[in-house]
Amino acid sequence: LTAELDAYKDRDAVTPDGFAVSLCVNTGLMADVARAKDRGAEGVGLYRSEIPFMLRERFPSEEEQRQIYRQQLEAFAPKSVTMRTLDIGGDKDLPYFPIREDNPALGWRGIRVTLDHPEIFMVQVRAMLKAATDLNNLHILLPMVTSVSEVEDAVALIHRAVEELQEEGEYAVTLPRIGVMVEVPATIIQIADLCRLVDFVSIGSNDLTQYLLAVDRNNSRVANLYSAYHPAVLRAVRYVVNEAHRVNKPVSICGEMAGDPGTAILLMAMGFDTLSMSASNLLKVRKAICLTPMAQAKALLERVLAFDKPEDIRAEVEEELTALG
Ligand code: PEP
Ligand code: MG
Repeated sequence: LTAELDAYKDRDAVTPDGFAVSLCVNTGLMADVARAKDRGAEGVGLYRSEIPFMLRERFPSEEEQRQIYRQQLEAFAPKSVTMRTLDIGGDKDLPYFPIREDNPALGWRGIRVTLDHPEIFMVQVRAMLKAATDLNNLHILLPMVTSVSEVEDAVALIHRAVEELQEEGEYAVTLPRIGVMVEVPATIIQIADLCRLVDFVSIGSNDLTQYLLAVDRNNSRVANLYSAYHPAVLRAVRYVVNEAHRVNKPVSICGEMAGDPGTAILLMAMGFDTLSMSASNLLKVRKAICLTPMAQAKALLERVLAFDKPEDIRAEVEEELTALG
């Protein structure tokens, strides 16, 4: 970490013309938390709940999960912590729950797994709700959603968990805010329908880029084709933020796209409410925001949205950032 970036630790992410952007972090382990707090994160935009599951030899019990989640929620309270329900399958494997498929990216993953195993989902949601007792900073996020019925079913299970715990009476629980991830192209087309069912939207740009461009996010042979600067990605993301704001739902983005200063400036210009990134990118993104007037970012966005090639967009954005310092 250079001393120059260090100077941004205690600054707010505010453009020179006075627009504030909320910068949050992606976490998974408690080790991420200290770094995030040291760098002034405004909350957790994505807690990847599968990470503690990946480090164990069996599914953690409800009480074990409650303790794990409590640490995360307590560390950031009163700031909000968005906990994603278990997102396994695809490129994320649990040693004690192997999923063998020819085409895992299009297979049994995320919400598809947990809706087929409501007992896994319920234990996890109950643990999250218990962990949030008296803190009330929990938001729950649903991964790899494709269709409205998946959200309806997941929301019904969350409501049921709240009712169960209220009847049991041991923990004071409240209904958390519930959000949907936009990672599958179908959810872009149906964003208005999905917004009716949830309190917020979070774009997972890693998977969204993979599925929009049909490029495996982990395959180095096609890595040159994988780009968040692709005009299709930028226009899709802008469409989602506009549609969600039309019905007053906040939108965040929690893929790597939020942690790259170039794309972060474009996302800021689109009007995202929150950018959530790995703690290692927090200071350079904050610096870019502090140096870029919103008016200039908006002009840049309008210019590059008319371009038809990722490399042209990237070059234009990088030139602008270099000129700003
Ligand atoms: C994403 O897909 O952009 C995302 C944030 O989720 P993950 O990287 O954990 O799949
Ligand atoms: Mg994802």
